Amino acid sequence: MLIDSHCHLDFPVFAQDRDAVIARAVNESVSRFVVPSTTMASFADVLELVQSSPRIFGALGLHPYFLSEHGESGLAALHQALDQHAGEIVALGECGFDARLADHDAQWQLFEAQLSMAREFSLPVIVHCVRANDEVAKRLKNARLTRGGIIHAFAGSQVQAERFLELGFVLGLGGSVTYPRARKLRGVVASLPEDGFVLETDSPDMPLQGFQGQRNEPARVAEVARSVASLRESTLEAISETTSRTVQRILQLSA
Ligand SMILES: [Zn+2]
Repeated sequence: MLIDSHCHLDFPVFAQDRDAVIARAVNESVSRFVVPSTTMASFADVLELVQSSPRIFGALGLHPYFLSEHGESGLAALHQALDQHAGEIVALGECGFDARLADHDAQWQLFEAQLSMAREFSLPVIVHCVRANDEVAKRLKNARLTRGGIIHAFAGSQVQAERFLELGFVLGLGGSVTYPRARKLRGVVASLPEDGFVLETDSPDMPLQGFQGQRNEPARVAEVARSVASLRESTLEAISETTSRTVQRILQLSA
C-alpha cells in the first residue's frame, strides 16, 4: 500500500472526476489520501470528503498562499472548526511560510498562531515551507509541539533535513525528486533514515518529470516511490511499506 500524504482532492479541478482519480490511484496501490485544507472556505469540503470515504483523511489549516482570504476571522474560524471537529481530522494544516510571497510578518503571525493551536489540540502539523527552512525550524522548536508533523515538499540540505527530524518531523517527498536536475535533494533523499520521510503528490500541483503542464494526481505517488526506491537502491515494496508505516505513526491513522 502507498499513501499520498498530501493531495488537494477538495480543489474544484477534481470536482468532475474525483471518483475516477481515486480509482486510478487505488489501481496503482495508492489507497489512502491525506487532504489538507487551505482556507476556511474549504473546511467544510475537506470534512465532507473525510466522511465520504474511509480512505480519505483530512487536516484543517490556513495556507500562507491565501493570506488575503483569511482576513480577520480566519484564525477564529479555524479554532472553532478544531473545537468541533478535532476528532475527525488527523492534523493541523496546511500552514507555514513561503519566502516567495509578500507580507512576511503577517505570514509568520498566522503560522505561529496555528502552531499554538496544534499544541492546544495536540495535533501534528503539515507544514508548507519554501526557502525558509532555518527560520521555520526555529519556530517549530520554540512552539514545543507535542506531536511533530510533516515538512511537506521538502527542499533543503542534509543539515536542514536532520534538524527537522530532530524536532520530530518527517519530510514529505514529491514530484521534485523525480527530476535529475534536483541533484542536491536527490542526494539528501538517498541518505535519509528509513523512517524519516513520507510520499506525496501535492495534487493538482507539482507535476512529476514527464508530466509537466498536466494536472497532477495521487496515482503518481507510485512514480515518486519508484524514484525514491532507485535513489536509495531499495525496492518499491520496501519504500511502500516504510513510508506507509511512517504516515500512520506521525498522523496516528488507524491500521
Ligand atoms: Zn499543499
